[in-house]
Amino acid sequence: MGLGGATQEPGFLCIGPRRLARQCLRCCGQCCNFVLDCVDVALRVIGPLFVLLALSLVSFVTYTFFTVLIPHLADSGTSSSLLLLEMALGCFLLVNILYNYAMAVCLNPGVPPEFPGEALESKDGELGDYAPAPKQCHKCLKLKPPRAHHCSVCKTCVMKMDHHCPWINNCVGANNYRYFCLFMFFLAMGCLYYTVLGSRLFFQALVPARKRTIKLKFEDIQCVTLSWLVSICIFCAICLLGGFHLYLVLTNQTTIEFHTNMAGRQIARKRGEIHRNPYDLGMSRNFQQVFGPNTFFGFRWLLPYVARRPTCNGLEYPMVSDFRA
Ligand SMILES: [Zn+2]
Ligand SMILES: [Zn+2]
Repeated sequence: MGLGGATQEPGFLCIGPRRLARQCLRCCGQCCNFVLDCVDVALRVIGPLFVLLALSLVSFVTYTFFTVLIPHLADSGTSSSLLLLEMALGCFLLVNILYNYAMAVCLNPGVPPEFPGEALESKDGELGDYAPAPKQCHKCLKLKPPRAHHCSVCKTCVMKMDHHCPWINNCVGANNYRYFCLFMFFLAMGCLYYTVLGSRLFFQALVPARKRTIKLKFEDIQCVTLSWLVSICIFCAICLLGGFHLYLVLTNQTTIEFHTNMAGRQIARKRGEIHRNPYDLGMSRNFQQVFGPNTFFGFRWLLPYVARRPTCNGLEYPMVSDFRA
């Protein structure tokens, strides 16, 4: 009775090990998709809060610079011309930080056009400007040019997508990558400037009141200490992230391509082959693809409102093979 009863019972015991493993994998996949969907929703919700936080930090350091640091420098005997120069440099950095940040946040990162399906059919099989055959994203149904990826947070494809950045509540793509890089550059310079200029005041704020050589109000001590720590932490973080993006710019890769190229390199190594990034055209050309046809030592690329715009349309990119042909 016991043996016969066991074979008739439905459930896990009747399922073969392979089917059970398949079901477990499917279940894990569904769980992962659910978690990723939750992360996407969370990024959409907290994105504006990150932007608010970034602007608050910049405002706080700026406030301390003008209301505590500059008056302290004036009191400590700095000449008025030098003080003006320091204020002008501070304003220049602040304007560039805010301008590049606004552009990175507000600019469309590069959404590809609609998939030209009907146009292709009317051409009796001719592909027109799109050769080889254009790809279509199966999620947003838009045209998917080379180097484009679908962003699950923005729910659209983005041309030359680098990553979705919560700090700008936007994707970093073909259109806003240079603004994103310049924002990091000016932010790092701004933080370094504040850290250097405010270091004496910061260390004075740390020593006991009776040993201080300058008088400081309690609120000023709090502002100086916090803003100096914020500045140095942001500077260190941006140095790491900015260094990585400098490498990506000079080798013509996006963050996504960096990972795929690394995997490709490992596979090629196992086969005894060499993997090459097909878009790596040399440092100078790679740099100009992001920052436009401006020479590096002309430094116009640092000011995107006067620099020449990048010529790339986001739909096609020059490859190493084009230059060899
Ligand atoms: Zn898509
Ligand atoms: Zn996105």
